[in-house]
Parts: sequence; structure tokens; C-alpha cells
Amino acid sequence: MKILIIEDEIGIANFLRDGLEDENYSVDIAHDGLRGLELATNRIYDLILADWMLPGISGIDITKQIRKSNKKIPIIFLTAKDTVQDTVAGLEAGANDYIKKPFQFEELLARIKVQLRKEEEELTNLSFEDLTLDTTTHQVFRDGTEINLTKKEFSLLYFLLKNKGKVCTRNDIIKEVWEINFETDSSSLDVYINFLRKKLETKNGENIIQTIRGIGYIIRERE
Ligand code: CA
Repeated sequence: MKILIIEDEIGIANFLRDGLEDENYSVDIAHDGLRGLELATNRIYDLILADWMLPGISGIDITKQIRKSNKKIPIIFLTAKDTVQDTVAGLEAGANDYIKKPFQFEELLARIKVQLRKEEEELTNLSFEDLTLDTTTHQVFRDGTEINLTKKEFSLLYFLLKNKGKVCTRNDIIKEVWEINFETDSSSLDVYINFLRKKLETKNGENIIQTIRGIGYIIRERE
């Protein structure tokens, strides 16, 4: 699980990172709003923790921007603002939760877990066109026919479907599906993509996984 922290107070950002890494989350930090928005737009995260008052762009504006393209990613605000109006403004901008500074790490962690659990529940059934994937039964169907996938192929398809409409970079896929960094040799990724493509191919040869040359792969509507 990957979390993005957008927080300009370096002490707080580092404190959060250390605590979350101890809980086995992987963490990226942005110290200003622009960098935060750039990371949130170009990389794949499971959750975003955003401060409200930030240099560059405020947490509220970042949230509004993110929500234009990503309705689902959980966003939790961390802020010293504590009036009811502030809470309402944060939630209306698209935040899922709101935690006031100073906060207890245990409470924040519990709230993060609630958001990630909701996300997981929504993600048990994924679909794209005539393809469906069910994580509870580990079954994949295309056009009504069950397709048998290996564990690795299933994880790879799950990751691409979970992020449908978004380019999954080779690094993101390898980190998430193989849970390692092997930037020097990622050729097995191409091998697995080919396995998947063959298994998912329909009679008319339609290919559901598109290659973004030099970057990665995507499942999305064809133009
Ligand atoms: Ca701040």
C-alpha cells in the first residue's frame, strides 16, 4: 500500500513517514502543493494525506484537482484549521476524512485503515467492457467464459484493472505485483503481459491491454 504525504512542515512529514513505514506502508513526501499535485496526478497511490495550508497550492485546491480525474482515491486532510466551516469546506472539496492538528498517530492510523478498508471492499469486483475480475472467488471472465490465470497473471490484471484509464508505469507494476525493485531487468513483465494478452484475447483478436511505449501499460477505452 502506497501513501502520499503532502506536508510542508518537514518534522511532521518525517514523523508521519517513519510511523507509516513502521506499519509497512510505502511513502512518498511532497513539501509543497505543486509537487504534491504532480505526484498525485502522475503516480499511483492508495491514499493521500494532505495538509491544508501549503506553499504553492492549498490542500483544498489539490483535492479539487485530483477529484476531476480520480473520484475514488481516499484523501485525508491534516490541518490546524478547526472550525466547522473549515471541516465542511474540506469535505465538500472531496476529502474523505479530516483530522485536526495536533493529532495522535494512533488515531490517524486508525482513520487511514478505515479508508483503505472501504477502498478494498469496493475493489473486490472489477470490470472493463466484457471482462470481470472477482477477488473473493479469484475468478476472471471475459464475454461469459472463465479464464484461468496464474497467481501472478491475476495480480497483474488486478493492478491494471484497479487503475483502468490510468497509465501504469513499468516501475509501479513491478513494485506492486512483484513487490520488489528490479529496474535493471524488467523483461519478465513483458513476458507476463504477453501471457495475459493471449489468455484474454477474444475471437476477433481484440487486445485489452495497451502498451504505452517506453512507459508502461494501460487498460482503457479505445479511441
Ligand atoms: Ca502547512
